[in-house]
Amino acid sequence: MTRQRSVILEELRKVDTHPTADELYTIVRGLLPHISLGTVYRNLEYLVAAGEIARLESAGSSMRFDGDVSGHQHVRCLHCGRIADLVHPLALPALHGIRVEGFDRIVGARVEFDGVCDQCALRANAPARVK
Ligand SMILES: [Zn+2]
Ligand SMILES: [Zn+2]
Repeated sequence: MTRQRSVILEELRKVDTHPTADELYTIVRGLLPHISLGTVYRNLEYLVAAGEIARLESAGSSMRFDGDVSGHQHVRCLHCGRIADLVHPLALPALHGIRVEGFDRIVGARVEFDGVCDQCALRANAPARVK
């Protein structure tokens, strides 16, 4: 593993903010001033393919990365895109009981909840907090 790649991996594992590639680039540049955004992207792609990190994708919002690959559940703020880990994961139905036409088997599931974060809830344009 190159030094650049190990720094990117280390820094991503330190945070629980699920940063975008741009945010991670800002963090890593503090340690490796000559690194380019393209290098950060390429290394993130490599680390995702190697199973070292996870890529969190959601339609209409920028891609975020997670240094924790334990298959936990997330909640995403509908307003600012902030992502947090669920402290108490919800039990999923048994996957082996699910049958889908054209699929031999179901092997996993990714669950992402939609929410409104505290900061966005304080803003006037956010929908009222559900009590
Ligand atoms: Zn928010
Ligand atoms: Zn996470």
